[in-house]
Formats: sequence, structure tokens, C-alpha cells
Amino acid sequence: MRQEVFEGQCQCGAIHYRIAGVALTMFACHCTECQRQAGSAFGMALWIKQPVVEISGGTVKEWIRHMPSGKQMSCQFCPDCGTRLFHKVVGQDQVLSIKPGTLSQPRTLVPVGHIWLGSKQKWTTIDPNALQYAGNPETFDALMAAWANADFHAAAVD
Ligand SMILES: [Zn+2]
Ligand SMILES: [Zn+2]
Repeated sequence: MRQEVFEGQCQCGAIHYRIAGVALTMFACHCTECQRQAGSAFGMALWIKQPVVEISGGTVKEWIRHMPSGKQMSCQFCPDCGTRLFHKVVGQDQVLSIKPGTLSQPRTLVPVGHIWLGSKQKWTTIDPNALQYAGNPETFDALMAAWANADFHAAAVD
């Protein structure tokens, strides 16, 4: 488990971020909530453990989503252009989810899995080598193990 740095920004450029932490996994979610949020066919999540977050240029705005599980999701976005940047379960500060489309460093991050395929858009083709779940996985252990075995890394910090 090594520390990496992830930098990115919102669409208008008002908010820039630099996040250091350990990447746990990256996956695509095809649930209807993510489709609506992204205004597209699916959402993506890059989970960072023990994130050290630096934000410059402005302050993100927060919207709380009440999830069916009873948990609350803090959804953070640029107040000017509305780009969604981060998700975090309220009360669980040890993991931050970055919306990886906002990353600015050139990279080739590939999702190791796809969840909520039961509601995916019919035209979306899924990599047969990726982990696949019809709904929410019971645990994310396999998604994290697949990420640990893949070779997708940002600049290491040490
Ligand atoms: Zn913006
Ligand atoms: Zn989703």
C-alpha cells in the first residue's frame, strides 16, 4: 500500500485539488443515481484511503444524499460550474471517493469492475475481464484486490 498523489480540477477551473493517499480501487457504477448525477451512462469512483486533501481556488459546495442503506453521502462540487468532484460517506473520513474524470494528470486508469449492471444502458459494452455485479457488491474486497494486482499508479510520494 503506497502513498500516491492525485491532482485535478473542476470544469471551469475555479477549484483545484491535490489529494495524497492510498488508492484502494476504481470502478464504474451503472445505477440510475450515477447516471443522473453524471448526465451520462455511468459514474466512476476512485477510492482513496486516509486522504490528505488540499483544495485551492475556492470552496466546494456540499449536497447530502440520503442513501437507501440509511447512510448519508456527502457529495461535493464546484459552486460555479457544478462539476462533481468528491463523494464521502458522512462519518467515514478515512475514505474519499474522487470522481476520476476530474483528474488532470495524464494517466490510464482503467476501472477494475462494474457495479449495478442490472440498470446499465443497453449499448454499454463491459470488458469481460472486469469484475461484474448486477447490483451493489456485498463487499468491495474483490474490487480492492483486483486494483492491488493491477498496475495503475499515480506519482508516488515519498
Ligand atoms: Zn468549476
Ligand atoms: Zn451508482
